[in-house]
Amino acid sequence: MRRITIIAPMYNEENLVSEYCERVLKNLKPLEIDYTTEILMINDGSKDRTWEKMSEMYEKYYPKLSIINLSRNFGLEGAINAGLEKAKGDIVIVMDADLQDPPSVILELVKKYEKGYDVVVAKRKKRESDTFFKKFSANLYYKISDKLSGKLKLEKNAANFRLLSRKVVDELNKLEEKNKVFRVTVPFVGMKTAVIEYNRDQRFSGKTKYNLFSMIRYALDGITSISIEPLRKIFTISIFSSIVTVLLLILSIISKEKLYILGFIIGFFSTMILVSLTIIGEYTGQIMIESKRRPISIIDDYKTPNNIEE
Ligand code: UDP
Ligand code: MG
Repeated sequence: MRRITIIAPMYNEENLVSEYCERVLKNLKPLEIDYTTEILMINDGSKDRTWEKMSEMYEKYYPKLSIINLSRNFGLEGAINAGLEKAKGDIVIVMDADLQDPPSVILELVKKYEKGYDVVVAKRKKRESDTFFKKFSANLYYKISDKLSGKLKLEKNAANFRLLSRKVVDELNKLEEKNKVFRVTVPFVGMKTAVIEYNRDQRFSGKTKYNLFSMIRYALDGITSISIEPLRKIFTISIFSSIVTVLLLILSIISKEKLYILGFIIGFFSTMILVSLTIIGEYTGQIMIESKRRPISIIDDYKTPNNIEE
């Protein structure tokens, strides 16, 4: 029988471990006719009793749960990565463990998978449960990443709640980069992708783990992992600077005004510096691309008439 693994990263969530297990297991019941189901909980170095709670649940629901204890807090991406490495499922579903991603959506995700999709992205309909600031910053983040994404198609208003087939999980696990951002690596791998919409609930208990600074850091990790485009923006700035410099040169020739001549000299050297930075930026970008060691392309399917064993 095929297996479904639900990945649940948790950091200081002692009050919702048991509720989470109960609700998810309840929603997995209807799937048990066709699948073996399990939850894989990851304790991301919690400072409270999350791990103890997980261990209790492990005994209580044996053999429905697997649990991972990370050696310290690595952050959500680290926790998801550990989950993906250990998940045994033919289908793997990543979801927040605070019940903001409603377990009832699991069924819809699996239905799409059964229609032949390898990735099913759950995207939120509205951001009602968010504060104004979160809505604003999320919008800004999506705008910037959209501009930089090039050939990558990033889904707006979609975080980590996604279903992945084994094929996709294996490809994700093969990626060697260390700044792995799930919402970027999944579209990078590609494959047949569907999107469904859902209403995001309020947190069941506790508070968000992200403050302004950790959110900005998280956003920067995401943006820099998409492409080297920000570095290429230095080129645009140097073009602008050279146009101004040429204008100043023309003005100083016509008017012989000292201020224009001074402006031209400053502009000339600034442009030189910017051009140098463009060159350095281009090489740095290439170093970044090479150091990520992402595959140049990924094969989804391959048919050939002379299919002799390779
Ligand atoms: N989380 C984690 N490690 C961290 C921070 C968060 O595993 O360092 C988990 C957290 O327990 C939750 C999920 O990531 O299950 C999403 O976190 P949170 O609800 O705080 O984020 P928000 O929904 O506010 O974006
Ligand atoms: Mg949350």
